[in-house]
Amino acid sequence: MTARKTLRTLQQLLDEGREILEGKGNQEAELDARYLLLDAFGLDLAHFLMDRNRALPDEESVRRKTERYFSMVEMRAGRVPLQQILGVQDFMGLTFRVNAHVLIPRQDTETLVETVLQEQKGTGKSLLDLCTGSGCIAVSLAVLGDFSRIAATDLSREALKVAKKNGERLLDKKNRGLLSFFQGDLFEALPEDTEPFDVLVSNPPYIPSQVIETLEPEVRDFEPRMALDGSLDGLAFYRRIIGGCRQFLNPGGAVYLEIGYDQGEALKEIFAENGFINVRILKDAPGKDRVAAGCLPLA
Ligand code: GLN
Repeated sequence: MTARKTLRTLQQLLDEGREILEGKGNQEAELDARYLLLDAFGLDLAHFLMDRNRALPDEESVRRKTERYFSMVEMRAGRVPLQQILGVQDFMGLTFRVNAHVLIPRQDTETLVETVLQEQKGTGKSLLDLCTGSGCIAVSLAVLGDFSRIAATDLSREALKVAKKNGERLLDKKNRGLLSFFQGDLFEALPEDTEPFDVLVSNPPYIPSQVIETLEPEVRDFEPRMALDGSLDGLAFYRRIIGGCRQFLNPGGAVYLEIGYDQGEALKEIFAENGFINVRILKDAPGKDRVAAGCLPLA
């Protein structure tokens, strides 16, 4: 019991947190413990490095921070994702709020946003983001993309609360009006008088149901199942989105979808079956298929 009492420096706190996490097989124990320590003590890395071997004052505030640190370490030891404990994740250079109701923004999805930016930035087009979750795609495109109008939808009310908050925090007043959020199942979320869009983007759930059980506990047990589960073959949402988007898009409208590394061929087929042209499968930085894109004909 007294082990904790004798901890006198930040470095010792870090070491003990790291050991707890290592004991649970965490491969990033040092890094995770350091993030949690910096958060609990409200420090940046420079101050931590400067002060880490200095004796901590024997004060109530230090005891409280230490307790908070170890309670976060225990959560992480129980495989709660680091981002859910800290409540944030960076995406496209922006810091997004996250909680257990939204998929944590992934680097994979930056490939999707970067592709849309490369091909559509500066065109003043309108954009629809389905299954917006944390809002990371819609909000980063609103910040970086010069779109004239963006609608973002999600089935989950709780996810939309997070997305709205991210929009409010990351968009300046001028841009905030360009982004609206709608709750509902894919296109059903949109109000009846919605004007068609020029661009559709989505990172829908695409993991085959039975594969979810094989994922890391952080994902399997703590991220929202409804953001992951693409039904039996993982393709259910692609069929519904590609099959149902025509009436919500302008002629020539472009569709960009995040996909799993082994879904490229299936996506080509679904796009082709629905009359799309210029269908492409694009790779992420590690070289895996990650984005499927296609266009409606102009007439
Ligand atoms: N890329 C995510 C994962 O591997 C899945 C995202 C999704 O289903 N849209 O966990």
